[in-house]
Amino acid sequence: MTLSPKGLWIGALLVAGLAGMLIATAGALSAPSPLQLRAHLAGIARDGLPPARTPYPEQLPCGDILVPIDKQHELAPDCVPNDLVELAGLGLYLRADAAAAFAALTAGASRDGYSISASSAYRSYATQEATFAWWTEQLGPEEAERTSARAGHSEHQLGTTIDLCAPAGCLESFSATPEAAWVAAHSWEYGFVVSYPNEREAVTGYVGEAWHVRYVGVDVAVRVRESGLTLHEYLLR
Ligand SMILES: [Zn+2]
Repeated sequence: MTLSPKGLWIGALLVAGLAGMLIATAGALSAPSPLQLRAHLAGIARDGLPPARTPYPEQLPCGDILVPIDKQHELAPDCVPNDLVELAGLGLYLRADAAAAFAALTAGASRDGYSISASSAYRSYATQEATFAWWTEQLGPEEAERTSARAGHSEHQLGTTIDLCAPAGCLESFSATPEAAWVAAHSWEYGFVVSYPNEREAVTGYVGEAWHVRYVGVDVAVRVRESGLTLHEYLLR
């Protein structure tokens, strides 16, 4: 059978239409509809863990400060930020932008009459392995999963995350301090987000950590704040 010119033209139209549909489908995969987003967030709330259907592979790219690192998504053991700088007087390391933002945050706190320091910042995969093992020994495996990340799954490996201290103390001792209230109210102005807010364990997988802040830049920190979502939900959208 020989196709008439008209037949060829219709055939070409069909192929073009099919290609358009494929492109539209690919578009839908990378940008979820409001309905998909609601279903996605409902899945997070129901299971306590995000469903593993995001544009990100479980093995996250190294060096991107906005990766949704969590219990499903991990960094490779050899992923080390290439611009770590020492925080003056603390013997801790952060990526350059996060270190500058931390200096601005502590200066801002100081202007408002608060003293903020830090107990931990960048942690390598190996250090996180030891940290998680230590918490498992202290608390048992179930509690350790709620308060500490497994190696590869910690925001501290990003080199943008820091555990803050007040004169009254660090970690749990930080939670009820005026410094913690200041951080909750002002950290976004310096590009930091409290990753694991109180009462959001069902979403983040971790109990509240008022001291644990992650640098994402001011633009993203503002958007997270306006969204009312946790950083985790925001990055997974
Ligand atoms: Zn932390």
